[in-house]
Amino acid sequence: MKNITITKTKHSTLSELDFDNIPLGKIFTDHMFICDYENGTWNNPRIIPMQTIASHPATMALHYGQAIFEGMKATLDSTGTPLLFRPNKNAARLNFSADRMGMPSFPEDLFSEGLKQLVDLDKEWIPKKKGSAMYLRPFMYADEHFIGMRAATSYKFIIICSPAGPYFSERIKLFAEKKYIRAATGGTGEAKAAGNYAAAIKPTENAKAKGYNQVLWLDAVEHKYIQEVGTMNIFFKISGKIITPFRDGNILDGITRMSVIDLLKHKGFEVEERPISIDEVKEASENGTLEEAFGTGTAIGIAYIQEIGTDEGTIHVSDESPVGEDVNNTLNGIKIGEIEDSFGWMVPVS
Ligand SMILES: *Cc1c(COP(=O)(O)O)cnc(C)c1O
Repeated sequence: MKNITITKTKHSTLSELDFDNIPLGKIFTDHMFICDYENGTWNNPRIIPMQTIASHPATMALHYGQAIFEGMKATLDSTGTPLLFRPNKNAARLNFSADRMGMPSFPEDLFSEGLKQLVDLDKEWIPKKKGSAMYLRPFMYADEHFIGMRAATSYKFIIICSPAGPYFSERIKLFAEKKYIRAATGGTGEAKAAGNYAAAIKPTENAKAKGYNQVLWLDAVEHKYIQEVGTMNIFFKISGKIITPFRDGNILDGITRMSVIDLLKHKGFEVEERPISIDEVKEASENGTLEEAFGTGTAIGIAYIQEIGTDEGTIHVSDESPVGEDVNNTLNGIKIGEIEDSFGWMVPVS
């Protein structure tokens, strides 16, 4: 593995941060990790002061959208050691996304090492309040200057960090979207690609204007089978069983999703990964067998779903989510070392 060089900032902005009032996604730490891809190899991995990157107007990512990202969090245990949650899964998923988008893979050992060194260097930025974390955003984009439709020959891989205050899970309302779709078989739905979000912005704004928090995405062919929510995978509890849409290539392979499946099975629940239609959810709501539903994702953790709006009316889900809350507490406890990490998920940064 290539050596990572470190240039420390001379002007830390840490003292400007009010830890009691952290605006989400707007504050970035003192340093960033960056690595350049040229002539078929990744070169010059380095940690440098946070800075802007000048881009040429012909930067290919801006025109053709070769851009992918990851989202993860660093938490602190009671001794002040930063912990990462299953970072190898993010490294592997980044490369899955890279492959789908015709981009080069990034060495997983360098991903892990760069991440650890960066988090260690900026660990004073990790908020100590319970429920807080430092959000980590690894991403890759085509930075070759070229007008023309082909895979770029140069890329940048970067990791930036953003402290995040405690997140309080509120009950959310979803709108089941039938006009627009997020993913179709053969498309890029399983890649964490920037373009997937670009296409979701307008439907999400529409849903928000109608009073909903997020879009519930349905399949592209029949507008019937549930895929996932904005930035989260989705789980339903019907007649005691947990049901989550199976991975048919159109949903993101969420690391929270896979962990929640493991936790639920460990807690004795039967978990089914299978197609689930919006009609099945509506029927379960009407006959009283729909017990709860929740979304899972790194940014929010677990979001409890109160209702689902459709063109034909509202599906009431539930006003309480005991299973979702239990899983959320377990997951959060594991992430700060308060609950035993029996799955071996946490990776200390030291
Ligand atoms: C990132 C993401 C998720 C959640 O994945 P996690 O690994 O659990 O954070 C779910 N859906 C979409 C579309 C995503 O981009």
